Amino acid sequence: MALLRGLRGLSASQLACAPSTSRPSLRPARPIQPSYMCSTSSPDKQTEEMRQGQAEGREAQMTHGQGGNDGPPPHMSKIRSLYCKMCGKPMQLVQLPTADWRHRCTNQDECGFIDYVNPRMVVGAIAEHEGKILLCRRAIEPCLGKWTVPAGFMELNESSAQGAARETMEEAGANVEIVAPYCHWDIPVIGQAYILFRAKLLAPFTIQSETAESLESRLFKPADIPFQDIAFSSVSLALRYYLEDVEAKKWRVHHGVIEKKLGSAPNDPSTFQIKDLMSMEVL
Ligand SMILES: [Zn+2]
Repeated sequence: MALLRGLRGLSASQLACAPSTSRPSLRPARPIQPSYMCSTSSPDKQTEEMRQGQAEGREAQMTHGQGGNDGPPPHMSKIRSLYCKMCGKPMQLVQLPTADWRHRCTNQDECGFIDYVNPRMVVGAIAEHEGKILLCRRAIEPCLGKWTVPAGFMELNESSAQGAARETMEEAGANVEIVAPYCHWDIPVIGQAYILFRAKLLAPFTIQSETAESLESRLFKPADIPFQDIAFSSVSLALRYYLEDVEAKKWRVHHGVIEKKLGSAPNDPSTFQIKDLMSMEVL
């Protein structure tokens, strides 16, 4: 029978480490949403349209902010959606009849495109071989030079498990078998959700020492995992729980919400904590 066994109350400092030189709040977090600069207009016209779109957005907020409505939630105001990806006209932030706030094309008669922005899914693998864990040192920002498990944004037309295996091949040149789901973290403040799987290296058990995305990749004994140089809070937490499970000789699946200070460094343990943790033993 599955058993719920929570680890509530563990502080971030108990679960992750960061270099003592880390400086919170100086490095911006990954942007929540890219800017849609897809207009075919000239730069001058774009600037004018941008002003117009922003002005109309403010007007919409002000209009809807009156008469007892509180206006758009703060996270919607931070999303940059300036131009319509369908027709190139300015977008404006409006309240839909469903009461949701969305960016909608101002060209309502001919277009009316609504920009639905949803969280992004990151998928990855904690790949094991002979008791060691595969880690990659990042060759790209964010967290250039820090260690992580192979992981990246899920692509269209693939499953999360396929994405985890693909990322492992891309970042470490390693072929893996996905064994089981391991953890699912939500990080609402940056609009991301993580699914990490347990995996095993497949024959011939080779790892590419350097790839376009990794400065180096290698297998670490649990005791040698460089927690002070792990790239992301999500990965740091996953590895901590993974080692707990290895030591207990009992696998669990974990779900939790990582709360981060907006704008904080991705791996600074003083700026995040795990909440609503649910850890379930699996047979
Ligand atoms: Zn449009």
